[in-house]
Amino acid sequence: MTCVLAIDIGGTKLAAALVDEAGSILRSATRPTPRDEVMSALAALVTEVMDGGPPPVAVGIGCAGPVDLASGTVSPVNMPSWRGFPLREEVRKLTMLPTVLAGDAQCFALGEHWLGAGRGCSSLLGVVVSTGIGGGLVLDGVPLLGPTGNAGHVGHMSIDPYGERCECGGRGCVERYSSGPNMARWALENNWSPGAASRANGSTPPTSPQGQAPPDPQGKGDPQGKGDARTQAQAHARMPAQADAQAPAQADAQGLTQADAQGLTQADSQALAQADARTLAQADAQALAQADAQALAQADARTPPPAHAQALTRAEAWPPAQADARTLAQDAAAGDPIAVAAFQRSARALAGMIASTAAAVELTAVVIGGGVSAAGEVLFEPLRHALDDVTGLPFVRSVEVRQSSLGVRASLAGAAQLAWRQHPSITTP
Ligand SMILES: [Zn+2]
Repeated sequence: MTCVLAIDIGGTKLAAALVDEAGSILRSATRPTPRDEVMSALAALVTEVMDGGPPPVAVGIGCAGPVDLASGTVSPVNMPSWRGFPLREEVRKLTMLPTVLAGDAQCFALGEHWLGAGRGCSSLLGVVVSTGIGGGLVLDGVPLLGPTGNAGHVGHMSIDPYGERCECGGRGCVERYSSGPNMARWALENNWSPGAASRANGSTPPTSPQGQAPPDPQGKGDPQGKGDARTQAQAHARMPAQADAQAPAQADAQGLTQADAQGLTQADSQALAQADARTLAQADAQALAQADAQALAQADARTPPPAHAQALTRAEAWPPAQADARTLAQDAAAGDPIAVAAFQRSARALAGMIASTAAAVELTAVVIGGGVSAAGEVLFEPLRHALDDVTGLPFVRSVEVRQSSLGVRASLAGAAQLAWRQHPSITTP
């Protein structure tokens, strides 16, 4: 069986998988990102995934930015021990395989284009809305990376040249309005009382939806890596050879594509477990459940629960409300006017960015993922209204906005697709 090695590197989590041409995960493992000695941890993870599996033909890496594709180096914001780190060369030496690198948000876009909500789009923008805002473009089916790998940096597009100063040094950046921490900050400045509305409304306590994005897909919010409760790598058993031989369709259904088709439901995870082929989605769901208590204790932008999701079924005592995007989403769902206004403000900034990007490159669709997007209609409903208001030209108005369907696996899928693309013997989908 031919496969590639996909690697996803974030501030909280390292993930690696062997992925076949259909997007099925043959083996995978994850572990928390250590503060130091990251390359040692990555090498051990890669060895674990490759040991006993089919030999991969190439490696694709998605890494938290900034990245420099010209030199193959990375300097992830929340990985202080990596500054100008020659990741591409280190992985190439480790695996002795052709290795390709891109930013994690670019891989998110590519993954959604390959197997997720952006499948079939001729011109796609992928946006990760979390503790920061990242993005990636796939135009005519090809990822637009840019000379140094910084194309698609939509979080720092200015939607108001007279707006607030951004941490990047620019002014009026989308991130200043739409990232989780900035939404919570603005709400607090406007006298938001975290958790008051959702408690009064008798909502269920927040919990992490299965398979949804982790607290920090961009790797910007948790320098200690404490948000990931995963303490050991989870080596996944290779799918039984019998299953491989008997049912390619079944094998396909056990990989990245099935969750796309059926949604990231608990039944999905159960079915995968029964099929004895554990996917990254399942591993992440387990880790998210473990990390839930920890995440709630951290005043950071955490995954807000979707107001409409079935995931909100766990009956637990309310934890202390944190002034974060997760609580903000709960309060907005409960009708808190400040929380609702914070999501409207965020949505309007995103709409301005989407309209501008659509006008520049004629987008056909936008896929939005990341922790804040897990708020679901709390975000997407005002986003559709804002887009209706700010867009004019028919080709801009026709842009479709969709929620990520791959969740935390999108970047890993994109990294796999990068590897397939650069391998000359493989015809890419
Ligand atoms: Zn900025």
